[in-house]
Amino acid sequence: MSLLKKKSGIAIVGLGNYATGQLIPALQQTSHCYLAGIVSGKSSKTGEWKEKYQLPDKNFYTYENFGSIEDNPDIDIVYVTLPTHLHAEYSIRALQAGKHVICEKPMAFTIAECDEMMAAAKKANKFLSIGYRLQFDPYHLEMIRLAKEKVYGEIKSVDTAFSFMPEAGEWRLNKNIAGGGPLMDVGIYCIQAVCYITGTTPLAVTAHSVPVSDNKKFIGIEETIHFQMEMPGGITASCRSSFSEEISYLKVNCSNGWFELDPAYNFGGLKMNTSDRRNFDMQTISQQATQMDNMALSFQNNQPSIASGAMGKRDMIIMEAIYEAMETGKRVALKMH
Ligand code: NAD
Repeated sequence: MSLLKKKSGIAIVGLGNYATGQLIPALQQTSHCYLAGIVSGKSSKTGEWKEKYQLPDKNFYTYENFGSIEDNPDIDIVYVTLPTHLHAEYSIRALQAGKHVICEKPMAFTIAECDEMMAAAKKANKFLSIGYRLQFDPYHLEMIRLAKEKVYGEIKSVDTAFSFMPEAGEWRLNKNIAGGGPLMDVGIYCIQAVCYITGTTPLAVTAHSVPVSDNKKFIGIEETIHFQMEMPGGITASCRSSFSEEISYLKVNCSNGWFELDPAYNFGGLKMNTSDRRNFDMQTISQQATQMDNMALSFQNNQPSIASGAMGKRDMIIMEAIYEAMETGKRVALKMH
């Protein structure tokens, strides 16, 4: 018997910008997984990929016949890259079809949906993970090392922001599809970073939103949110996320100096600075290729990914608390400890 493990076949669900611009190209650079199939609403969208990647017809599915993926041994992992309101439905359908699932962030619309997804994974005896690409990025791993080894002393506070400007009419601006505003879409990266840099989860949160500048564009969602997270050990995190500016930074202030990424959350071009102006010679990688390889390898070894469904649910709990704080103006305590 060969000791070489078979590469995992990944089927991408949803041919949007992230799938076509990042994930599918990244699957050309992976060592432990490859593009094996596509699930899309329109067959007109799939022709290009059929030709480019020479995939067999049987590995193309529509949203309607997607359940029959169960009988396709070429597909080991289903990667759900649809808008948020469809994450739970398609993840659960894939798990019921006996496939491992990678679901894009945010994990779902509600905490109840996260529970349903995790229950479906347990029942199917398959793994569920969230597309948290930066959990595997060398710059972010270095930030975690600097924090863990207290290279600049004890962490006192974290300042971070992630914002970008979606076009009018995008589903991201529709609460019924996105579940929320910039907090759900990009503020989630700030929550992730604060948790992995400090190695903890928040004790309490406070938040406020800024009055919207365009009430035709921002209906029922925040345009800009400022939120603070009280972390164990007296660490405070000040975070900001907006759909009306382009910012991406993560600064960790410590007793003996500071370290930061600016930009911090982009697909590439991250830059690290420290109070003592160190040189960091970090390799440039495809975040998506590294993430998918890591996840495929974990599943092949019968292990959950570090970016698990439980982590996705944890972040949903934090975001619901932040929205509650924003709406009530009160400090909301979290009982995750
Ligand atoms: P997109 O709008 O470019 O693509 C969405 C896809 O879903 C399209 O193919 C569209 O046809 C399909 N779709 C099916 N039903 C739909 C509906 N009811 N409304 C709208 N589209 C529908 O979006 P995107 O930027 O590719 O985002 C897709 C997912 O990927 C989201 O969950 C998003 O949060 C995530 N994402 C993650 C990252 C990351 O860095 N991890 C980056 C961008 C997007």
